[in-house]
Amino acid sequence: MPDNYAIADQFSLLSKLMDIHQENSFKSKSYGSAAFSIEKLPMQLESIPKEQIASLKGIGDSTARKIIEILETGKLLALEELIAKTPEGVLEMMQIKGIGPKKISTIWKEMGIEGLGELLYACNENRLLLYKGFGEKTQKNVKEAIEFYFRHQGHFLYADIETYALHMQDVFESQFKENKFLLCGDFIRQMPTLEKLCWVTDCSNQQLATFLKDNAFETSELTDNILHAKGIENVMLEFQFSPRDQLQKRSFILNGSEAFVDAWLNKYPASLDNMHTDQDAFSAASIQYIPSFLREDPAIIEQAIKGSVMDIVQPSDVKSIIHSHSDWSDGTNTIEEMAKACIDKGFEYMVISDHSKSAFYANGLTEERVKAQHQYIDELNRKYAPFKIFKSIESDILNDGSLDYSDNLLSTFDLVIASVHSNLKMSEEKAMQRVITAIENPYTTILGHPTGRLLLSRKGYPLDHEKIIDACIANKVVIEINAHPRRLDLDWTWVARAQEKGALLSINPDAHNIEGYNDIRYGTLAAQKGGLKKENNLSSFSLADFEAYLKG
Ligand SMILES: [Zn+2]
Ligand SMILES: [Zn+2]
Repeated sequence: MPDNYAIADQFSLLSKLMDIHQENSFKSKSYGSAAFSIEKLPMQLESIPKEQIASLKGIGDSTARKIIEILETGKLLALEELIAKTPEGVLEMMQIKGIGPKKISTIWKEMGIEGLGELLYACNENRLLLYKGFGEKTQKNVKEAIEFYFRHQGHFLYADIETYALHMQDVFESQFKENKFLLCGDFIRQMPTLEKLCWVTDCSNQQLATFLKDNAFETSELTDNILHAKGIENVMLEFQFSPRDQLQKRSFILNGSEAFVDAWLNKYPASLDNMHTDQDAFSAASIQYIPSFLREDPAIIEQAIKGSVMDIVQPSDVKSIIHSHSDWSDGTNTIEEMAKACIDKGFEYMVISDHSKSAFYANGLTEERVKAQHQYIDELNRKYAPFKIFKSIESDILNDGSLDYSDNLLSTFDLVIASVHSNLKMSEEKAMQRVITAIENPYTTILGHPTGRLLLSRKGYPLDHEKIIDACIANKVVIEINAHPRRLDLDWTWVARAQEKGALLSINPDAHNIEGYNDIRYGTLAAQKGGLKKENNLSSFSLADFEAYLKG
C-alpha cells in the first residue's frame, strides 16, 4: 500500500504536469495544495474509511476520488496519461533546480526544446533571454544546474572532461614518482563523449586505493587488477594494474577499437612483446605509425603498410573562423570585437554568419538589417585590411527546403551557410527532401551541422549520409564539421567516407562569442578521427585560396 508520502508525490507531480501542459490552473493548484495537506496528515490514508477521505482538511471530492483510486489500484490514471503525453526530456527538466513548471512549459511549448542538452545549448546561444520570465541570471542558473545534473549522470563531453583528466594525470605523477600512469582508452582515442577515464599503472593496487580513499574518492575493486574510483566530480576513474614491462602492451590494447586491435594481433602477434614506447609496436611490424585516434577501422593498417597515413589536420592548421554569430543575432560580441580577436589569434579572415529572419528566437536578420550589416562590414574591412570579414548568413532551411531570403538578397552574400534549426522531427524521406533541396540551391556554399544532433541529448534527424555526401559533391557544397563540443556534426565516422569520395569539409566553430573560437580544437580532434587532411578542410585555406574558391 502506498504511504502518504508516495500519494502526495503523485499529486505534486500531477499538479506540475498540468501546469506544464497548461491545463486548468485552478485544478492544478488544488492538487498541489492537496499534496501538501496529505503530507501533513497525522494518520495514514489507508487506515481511514474511504467515505471519510473527502471530509479531511484540504481535500475535496475530486482529490478524494483520486486518493481512493491510488489506494485501490496503486496508480493514478490522469497522471499516467499526462506522463505519456510528455517527452522524456521534458520530464527530465523537472529534475533541474531553478526551473518550475511554468518555465518548463515556456521552454517546451514556446521555445520548442524537448531535452536538457538542447536546453543547455540554447543557454549558450542566449536564447532564453528572449522569453518572458527568463533573465540573464535565470539563464546562468539553469545552465549551471544542467551541467551539475549531467555530471551526476556520469556521461561527459570530451571537452568537459579534458581539464580534469590532465589534472588527475598530474596528481598521479607527482604523488607516485616511482610509478608510471598511462592515460588510455576513450580519452586517448579522442571520443566525443566519455563514460570513464582509464589509466594503466604499475603502482600497487593497495597503495593507490589508500591514496584515493584519503582524498575522498569512493573506490571499488572490480577484480584483482581493476580498481574503480569516483570523486566529487562524479567521473568514473578506472585503473588497470600491470607490471611495468606490460604497461605499453596493455595501453595499446585499450587505445584502439576492438576491431582494430583484433586485426592487429592477427597480423602482428609478436609486435606487442617488449614494448617500451607506443612506437615500438609499429617498428616491430615495420610499418608506418598510426596515431591512437585513427585506430578504429582496421583498414587503416593497410594504409600504414603503404605509408599513406599522413598530413592529418592539426588545430593550428585552421586559418580562419568560418561560421560565427555576432550581437546582430544571438552572439554576445560585436563584429568588431570578433574581428579583433581573430587578428590577435592570427586568423587571416572571418565569416560572419548571423541567423536569418525565420530564426526569430535568435533575433535573425530582416532584409533591412542584412543590408545595414553589409555596410558596416565594408567599413570594418577598410579599417582592418588586409584582414577580411566575409558577409554570410546562417540561413534556416525552411520546411520545404528553401532558404530564408529572396535570390536577390542571397546573391549579396559572399557565401551562405544553410542549416536546419526548426521542426527537427522528420521522417528520413522528409528530411532528405528538405536537406537535398537546400544543397541544390545555387546560393548554398556550406551545409551547416548536417544532422542537427546534440551529443548526449538529441539524436538529430535521420539522413542518408551517402546521398547527402554525393549531393554536396555534385553541387559544390562544403560539409561542415561543426566544432561545438556538443555538436561535432558531421560525425567523425562519416568524415573518412566524405573525404574519400572527394567532398570538401570545413571545421567551423559556430562561435557565439570570442571564447567560442576555442572549440576549433574539438572540431579538429573529431576530424582527426576521420583522418581529415588539411587540404580537404576549407577553414585551412589561406585568404587568397578561400577567395578563389568562392569565385570558382
Ligand atoms: Zn546553426
Ligand atoms: Zn550557427
